[in-house]
Amino acid sequence: MTNRLLAIAVALVMCVHAQDGPRTTAALTIMGARIVDGTGAAPRRGGVRIENGRIVATGDVRPRDGDVIVDAHGLVLAPGFIDIHNHSTSGLTQEPAAETQVAQGITTIVVGADGSSPWPIADYLAERRRNPAAVNVLVMVGHATVRRLVMGDDYKRPARDDEIARMAALVEQGMAGGAVGLSSGLEYEVGSYSETKELVELSKAAAPHGGFYMTHIRDEADRAFEAFREAIDIGERAGIPVQISHIKLGTVAVWHKSADVVKMIEAARRRGVDVTADCYPYDAWHSTITVLVPNKQYDDPASVKKALDDVGGAQNVMIDRDTAHPEYEFKTLDAIAKEKGITPVELFIQIVKDGGASVVGKSMVEDDIRRFYSQPWVMVASDGGIGLRHPRSAGTFPRVLAKFVREQHWFPLQEAIRKMTSAPAARLKLADRGTIAVGKVADLVLFDPDTIADRATFQDPFLLPTGVKTVWRDGAVVWDAGMATRAAPRRPLPDEPKTVGFRIVTRLASSYRRQN
Ligand SMILES: [Zn+2]
Repeated sequence: MTNRLLAIAVALVMCVHAQDGPRTTAALTIMGARIVDGTGAAPRRGGVRIENGRIVATGDVRPRDGDVIVDAHGLVLAPGFIDIHNHSTSGLTQEPAAETQVAQGITTIVVGADGSSPWPIADYLAERRRNPAAVNVLVMVGHATVRRLVMGDDYKRPARDDEIARMAALVEQGMAGGAVGLSSGLEYEVGSYSETKELVELSKAAAPHGGFYMTHIRDEADRAFEAFREAIDIGERAGIPVQISHIKLGTVAVWHKSADVVKMIEAARRRGVDVTADCYPYDAWHSTITVLVPNKQYDDPASVKKALDDVGGAQNVMIDRDTAHPEYEFKTLDAIAKEKGITPVELFIQIVKDGGASVVGKSMVEDDIRRFYSQPWVMVASDGGIGLRHPRSAGTFPRVLAKFVREQHWFPLQEAIRKMTSAPAARLKLADRGTIAVGKVADLVLFDPDTIADRATFQDPFLLPTGVKTVWRDGAVVWDAGMATRAAPRRPLPDEPKTVGFRIVTRLASSYRRQN
């Protein structure tokens, strides 16, 4: 670090710390930044003045007497990042400071993804308001959650019309209670038994409340194209915007076919279906070894062989934890099999017999990730969260800025920031957030574009990123100089519920719960 940078860093830390303490009328002026305002506009030099958590001036700003002044020369100031697919539902209770999240520059998260949400929604949000976390929290109604409430353990079949009607009432209740949309996880146990019709009806219940349909599609592997078609179909039939979660092509049979997916989605968008997507910047997943074999025939050599072929071969599966065989850890199935002089299929069957292992498996190829990310309708989202063992939990946003922007020049910085801010804000109808402009809530991130980088790995998934200097949420510092602070926000999302009807519906839903 040069002396000048060091001096700035010290000044910054001092300024920011000076802001701690009671701050009911705190005013703050950030000066000399490169402002990337979230709209996709080119960076411009300037400042931002904040009063009581709102931006009151931008551009050539002058601090007033008593303002805390932050010298941001050499740094980029952007709106706080919005993570539209985040799994911190329970993590927030244990760790409201949300260190791995704010360290990336995230100021708003959306939980309840993949069909599984807290319930009742209104109670969950009330609890978040009582104990505000460092990040704003929005929530989806989970399809699997309402399906279990209505069908109980008898969910391994299509739902009857009367059951769909009861689920729709619960979706409405969740939306009235403050949810922002309906999520599904159709590759998972409970959601997988539903027919398209069920999802159309539930989406119709969410749509009048301004909700969108967010989906982990039915198949991200060999039958991905059918699954994309179904997601679009649901949007079209229910008249609801669609968000495809962690868009990917996950097996050899569909690798390198992203151009066809893009074509399909763009055709739908031209017909007026509001389809968008999000994508995480990693080409591998982390799970138990058995998920590789969808038909669950773990000792059947043909099924295991197909499973390994689907991920491109045994060299694409790395063991990261194996209690029976710690000597396998951080080696690929291919390498271990060679050492032992057996086939990877034999090795796989043995590992499962010995108690299984957790593995990192290749799920995507780079040209698909790049093509998806380069679409203006694809956002950045983590699919990670507090305590979730995947590097995306602590690395996603800095990784996009380091790898895809600075190193590989896939798109300019302002486009990356737009994908992290105003694009998800538009999907979530967050009028007050996602851009830097007068009147907006001061959710902001200040980072060094030359050094920002992820450090989390599969071995060490919670290593914090570097280069994020300060994060403000609602004008209060939640991350600074490498540490999460415990500033309580003034204006936390979720907002207070506006409707009066939701109490009645809450009662309705608790009667459903008692039935099951
Ligand atoms: Zn998912």
